[in-house]
Amino acid sequence: MIAFEGVSVEFGGARVLHGIDLRVRAGALCALVGPSGSGKSTLLRLVNRLVEPSAGAVRVRGEDVAALEPTRLRRSIGYAIQSVGLFPHRTVAQNIGTVPRLLGWERARIAARVEELLALVRLDAGLAGRFPAELSGGQAQRVGLARALAADPDILLMDEPFGAVDPIARRGLRAELRRIHAGTGKTVLLVTHDPGEALELATDLAVLRGGRLVASGTALELTAAPVDGFVRELMGGGD
Ligand code: ATP
Ligand code: MG
Repeated sequence: MIAFEGVSVEFGGARVLHGIDLRVRAGALCALVGPSGSGKSTLLRLVNRLVEPSAGAVRVRGEDVAALEPTRLRRSIGYAIQSVGLFPHRTVAQNIGTVPRLLGWERARIAARVEELLALVRLDAGLAGRFPAELSGGQAQRVGLARALAADPDILLMDEPFGAVDPIARRGLRAELRRIHAGTGKTVLLVTHDPGEALELATDLAVLRGGRLVASGTALELTAAPVDGFVRELMGGGD
């Protein structure tokens, strides 16, 4: 579903990803873990072409993304990030309806979908008319998740999507993501700093260190044969 084939990335001559080979099969929830600055966000952003490789190729649904039109590619992939990035002057409903509107859905269909998504992420329907500044951090992250899911993409990219909320809200959001993944079979690439989150949610793990992929496989495989001190630390950590 998503394949990185010998992918390197350079920023201003400095190489931050080195020949990454990684396959994320359809329906997997792959957690990308690794220290700060190891290249997790950069790897994620290659998939929707917010970053371009300096070598190698990224394939999505079998197609080299370099051959795809970035705007259309992005509308076909859900993307949720820690800072949420809601449009401040648009209501919750308008934020959630962003991609459907761009895709030209009719108003009634968008309204019905917004209602459905608010229920899915367990937000009160009464919040639809609020503006982002009138939401709690946890509510805003739920809206961000709903927005990423709006046009029912088969691929979700999530970059520390629950990073800005307290542990209780985080647990609730984690449960929503697990339910959504289990119920829809979406392919999810999830960046997380939290080993407990990775082990609880992921079917597969990919460990980055210094821009290199140092381990990948199922949680069971990595626990059985931790190849790297960081992986051992991660597996021993929990939360
Ligand atoms: P964190 O856990 O802190 O979010 P990360 O693993 O997501 O870290 P990246 O954001 O992918 O790390 O960054 C990897 C490296 O690339 C870092 O050294 C970072 O400074 C650098 N980098 C990322 N984006 C850019 C950019 N647009 N221009 C220049 N350097 C960049
Ligand atoms: Mg990051």
